Amino acid sequence: MSGERAGMDDCVDCDQAVSVMQIFLDGECGAVMQHTITLHLRDCPSCLHRADFERHLRAFVAAKCREVAPRGLYDRVLHRLPLS
Ligand SMILES: [Zn+2]
Repeated sequence: MSGERAGMDDCVDCDQAVSVMQIFLDGECGAVMQHTITLHLRDCPSCLHRADFERHLRAFVAAKCREVAPRGLYDRVLHRLPLS
């Protein structure tokens, strides 16, 4: 086995994949990057797991916000965030 670093153009490492994960999930990283990350996720269980987790988290938060719509809670959470 050799030549692992061939094809850098359509290849990203985990740091790069993670750094664009949010815009990737938003579908706003462009077609090329979308394809590149998709390929990476196919070969990288840890990033795939991370992407799945982010997707579920988003779906969960979206569902919860729609169900409960806790206005006071939202404000309280905002106040507790260390916005420094
Ligand atoms: Zn990875």
